[in-house]
Amino acid sequence: MGTMILLNDFKRQWETVQEPVFQAVRRVGESGWLILGTEVSVFEEALAPWFGKQEAVGMGNCMDATEHALRALGILPGDHVLTTPFSAFATTLAIVRAGGVPVFVDTDDSGQIDLDSVENCLERCYHKIRAVLPVHLYGHPLNLDRLRKIQEHYSIPVIEDCAQAIGAKWMDESVGSCGRISVTSFYPTKNLGAMGDGGAAMTDEPDLAIALRSLRDYGQAAKYSHELLGSNSRLDELQAAILNDAILPRLAEMTARRYEIASAYRHAIQNSEIRVLRPEPDATPVDHLFPVFVPSARRDEFRQYLQSEGIQSAIHYPGLIPDQPAMRACPFVISEDPRRARELAATEVSLPLHPYLRDDEVARVIDFCNAWH
Ligand SMILES: *Cc1c(COP(=O)(O)O)cnc(C)c1O
Repeated sequence: MGTMILLNDFKRQWETVQEPVFQAVRRVGESGWLILGTEVSVFEEALAPWFGKQEAVGMGNCMDATEHALRALGILPGDHVLTTPFSAFATTLAIVRAGGVPVFVDTDDSGQIDLDSVENCLERCYHKIRAVLPVHLYGHPLNLDRLRKIQEHYSIPVIEDCAQAIGAKWMDESVGSCGRISVTSFYPTKNLGAMGDGGAAMTDEPDLAIALRSLRDYGQAAKYSHELLGSNSRLDELQAAILNDAILPRLAEMTARRYEIASAYRHAIQNSEIRVLRPEPDATPVDHLFPVFVPSARRDEFRQYLQSEGIQSAIHYPGLIPDQPAMRACPFVISEDPRRARELAATEVSLPLHPYLRDDEVARVIDFCNAWH
């Protein structure tokens, strides 16, 4: 057996990016400017078009970006926000931290928030719901035409959580282009990962961009003039410089490699016990994760088998957000029994998928999946 095939391989990434990273760090050091300077604004300008938006506002992380997006859109304590029970906990935590009340509907069989359920919920109680916060899960895009129609028909703001899906497309449109605000994460495992934490909120509306810039910086409108109760959540100059020099210029290439590996998995993993997700015909995924679904009673056994063959795996996600103990401390609404999401939480296994996997490693993952009985 060779070395372990990792879910993410930051050492291999370092071999590729260290020169531009050192250059970026040197430039920031020599500039003498460490917070909210040119590096952040240059990065914001380069980032916005990835989401089909005019403006990007760099923040400390995606959770803060989501909380501030809700605040910028005028969500007040007690307002209901429709979202998915099956995502990173941060999606819901942002709603709770903004004072909102999360309302959960079920997912479809691929783990994405079920847009039929979203529409049903809005039909029944749209006067109560003040925003919709869908997630483009696993790097697969939701149907943007439907999201746009929901936003227009109910005149309700959509905030797209694009943390796992930068660059994913529905037909010719990028995820993030339809919501009034879209958010993303530069957490190191994400497709556009920094060397630490970071996030951003994107919008086409100048007044929202102004509010977001203020909210990330203590709610200042001008120095020492606080018009909003903001927080401290600025993207670092250092992280922005690293993203500018070392990561963003490689994003298209890294995404293409992810897609190549995922396509090989989708094509070659053939085992009646392993269900693989197929993208919708109009979808171009960016394959942030590669989820497969196995019978729940055999999931541990499957993961142990992979581990013993030198293949790391993970579960995204082992439980539903409304079932987390922390949720006992806040109000929320279950608008629909999340039974499909619960089934996925019991059966999902994520296979290694990152741009630095070698072809022989991809082949090994496929072979061991196909050999599992
Ligand atoms: C990672 C992730 C987040 C949180 O991002 P942070 O930058 O760590 O706050 C939110 N939503 C989704 C879907 C994520 O995958």
